[in-house]
This record gives sequence, C-alpha cells and structure tokens, in this order.
Amino acid sequence: MRYLSTRGQAASRDFEGVLLAGLAEDGGLFLPAAWPSLSPAEWRALRGLPYPQLAARLMQPFVGDALTPATLLGMTEAAYRGFGTPAVAPLVQLDHRTFALELFHGPTLAFKDMAMQLLGRLFDHVLARRGERITIVGATSGDTGSAAIEACRDRAAIDIVILHPEGRTSAVQRRQMTTVLSDNVANLAVQGSFDDCQDLVKAMFCDQPFREEMRLAAVNSINWARVAAQIPYYAYAALSLGAPDRPVAFSVPTGNFGNVLAAWAVREMGLPVERLIIGSNRNDILARFLAANDMSVRGVEPSLSPSMDIQVSSNFERLLFELLGRDPDATREIMRRFRAEGRMPVPDAAWTRATGLFHGFALDDEGTLAEIRRLWEGQGYLADPHTAIGTAAARAHAPRDPGIPVVVAATAHPAKFPDAVERATGLRPPLPARLADLYAREERFSVLPPRLAAVEDFVRAHARRNRVG
Ligand SMILES: *Cc1c(COP(=O)(O)O)cnc(C)c1O
Repeated sequence: MRYLSTRGQAASRDFEGVLLAGLAEDGGLFLPAAWPSLSPAEWRALRGLPYPQLAARLMQPFVGDALTPATLLGMTEAAYRGFGTPAVAPLVQLDHRTFALELFHGPTLAFKDMAMQLLGRLFDHVLARRGERITIVGATSGDTGSAAIEACRDRAAIDIVILHPEGRTSAVQRRQMTTVLSDNVANLAVQGSFDDCQDLVKAMFCDQPFREEMRLAAVNSINWARVAAQIPYYAYAALSLGAPDRPVAFSVPTGNFGNVLAAWAVREMGLPVERLIIGSNRNDILARFLAANDMSVRGVEPSLSPSMDIQVSSNFERLLFELLGRDPDATREIMRRFRAEGRMPVPDAAWTRATGLFHGFALDDEGTLAEIRRLWEGQGYLADPHTAIGTAAARAHAPRDPGIPVVVAATAHPAKFPDAVERATGLRPPLPARLADLYAREERFSVLPPRLAAVEDFVRAHARRNRVG
C-alpha cells in the first residue's frame, strides 16, 4: 500500500514511512493511494471474529509488507489484552435503535487507547528492526498524554516526555500520567497554560539540531496509523448489527475529526453507512460548516467536554481532499487560504457532497448535563459528557427509517469526568477495579517554568539516561 499527501508535493511512502513521518513534508496528511474495498461476501465472512482478529484482518491492507499477518495479529492481541473486557469494544443497547459502542475499556479509560496501544507497539517494532530509537515529546491538556504514556511505557526503542500545564488538568488525568514510573517515561508540569506547553513542543520541533539530536517524534492524531487503528471498531459494530445486509448510522463526538474519519473510511471500504452524525460542544466549527458552509475559526472556549475544545479539526483536511475529488492542488490552496484568513473557502459542490452524508450537531454545557441526566434517569446508563453529546446528536439526526440502527461512539468512561457526571446525576462514578488505587499510587513529575532551554535540558537528560550503549 502506497500513501499520498493531501497537498501533492511530498513523495509517496509505504506504511512504515507514514508511521514514522506523521505529517508529510509539504504540510499535508497522508492517505492511502486507493481505499481497500471488501465485497459483501468478504464482509460477511468477518462476522463473529474476536476483536483483535478482526482488527488485524482489516488493518493488513493498510500495513502492506511492513508486517506479516502473524506479527500484526500478535500485536493486536497484545494491544487489547489489557482491556477491561474481552469484548474490547462492547456494544450496549440504549433504546430500540440506539447503541453505545464503548471504546473506553483501555488503560486510560478513553477511546484514544484503541489506537495508541497498537501504535506504541508498531513504533517499537519498526524502530527495533531499523536499529533506531526515538524520543516522543507531546503537550497534553488531559487525555492524549496519558494514552501516549500508557502506549509507550517500557518500550525499548522509545523515550517519552509529556508536558502538562501545572495544576490545570483534572486529578484523574494527571495521576494517569504521573503514576507511570517506568524508566522511559517523564512527566513535566509546566508553570503555565496548555498553550505554553504546546508552544514549547512546537519550539523543540523547530530547533533542528535538538530535533535531530533527540530524534524527536510525535504521536498526534494526524498520524495515519492512528486513524487506521480506529477503523476496525466501526466495522465490528456494523457487522454485529447486520451489515453489510443492513445499513447503519454512526454518531461521533468530535474534536480533531480523527475518530469520525475512521467511520467514514469503513464506508469507503464497502460497508453500508447511511449517515455520519458529528457531535460538537460550543466549539461548533464543524456544525457551522455543515449548516451553512461556514468553516471559520473563533476562539476556543472551555467546556465540560474538554477533549473536544478544538477549533481547527486537523483531520478534516483528509475529508476535504476526498470531497474535492482527490485534487491536491485545490486542497493545498484551500488550506493556505484557511491559514491566512481563518475561514475555509469550500466550493459549493464539495459542501453539498459533505451534507449528503454528514449531519452536524452542537450542544452547550447545560444541554450536555441535561442529556447525562436523561440517559441516567431514562435508560440507567451513566455517560461521560463527550458520549452524551454523541447520544443527543444521534437523537437529533436519527435516520427516518427506524430499521437503521444508530451507533454512538462512547469515547470516555464516566469516571474520567466525575465532576460533570455528579453535577448531572448526583452520582459520583467509581473508577473500575483495576484503577481503584489510582489516588494512592506514587506520583513522579518535575516542575519547570515555560522556558525552552530548561525544557530542552530536561528532555536531553531524560532521553540520555535511557539511551543504551
Ligand atoms: C480525543 C477525544 C475526542 C475527540 O476525538 P477526535 O478524534 O479528536 O475527534 C472525543 N472524546 C474523548 C473522550 C476524547 O478523548
């Protein structure tokens, strides 16, 4: 399988190349040169497979020659072994036609584990074969950092340093990072905001000598391998509900557009997806785009669903490229104007194509609390704020045909956002048993002011300490 950049000015690469590169050199994102497609008979033959087997089968065409089928299967089995349920991604029925696809049974209780647990192993395997090592640095306001740390802990070829804003993440989120005491993991609490953390990470990547010395790498959501690892659970849900002989709809609470892009991909691969519903909080750029072709950036506002407090959905560029008939020159020009003007000039034909499949929905904090309460009182289901936006969106935009089930991506465990859930229901959701002692575990992190030289010294000391030979 070869991969192309959405901006058309980077050389094509194989899977290993896009895994290690992340972003293309021309600033674009990688996509398969052609989508693999399965016939209805081939889809039917995949029904009933355990999740790790289905994941390996569906990812094989994307991975190509980089891994043998046996190696890939070994990796998916190892990646999902530590999940809280052997179902890995169980489907819970909420009403006659709505189902929650629970993607939060991994080590950090949010859906990012579904891809990250595999990504850490893919990186380690590829690096070991090349005899290389990398240092992953990242900034987090919460979920991504802990998922990355859990994915990279104890991996031989990887050191990881995660920056978080001191005192500004929730206690659960901080402890999920700082209680990982592995030698190759370091946490840095920066005396500043999340933006300061992000600026420091960007500055480290721009410091070319430092970047090369440390072999810096990122695991952010624009990495194609992350999207690829999210495709199998949509197929898993659709097959369980009767696809390819019955269409399904998906409702996905969205920030960077990565999760919903994977749902879109299963449709390209031949499953009958009737519609894709996108849930946003008050940071509603995608809802405004779908309602009125208004993709314009406003300031980010904090909400009860912080993992969706995003204005620029970086993975949207991949959909844009497809909506434009895979025209890299048009994509590049639109992205250039978006960066320059803060408003994306999407041609009407492409917008119309998008609105034929995608439905946007936005919910403020009051609405989110009301939905959490409604789910608890009406269905006995305890949902986190992100998932609740997904169920509200599903209700607002359910297909007219009641025979089409709607699958809501349940992206976080309610115990990950206990304050919001308690406010809505009066109930404080307990952590699952395997994390019950999180508040008693030893924490380890360093505190530094937001100064590049100090942070680079910290990264250098950390990565060297662990360097073999
Ligand atoms: C990251 C995250 C999202 C948003 O996912 P995207 O791929 O960025 O759209 C939604 N919910 C939770 C709980 C998350 O952690």
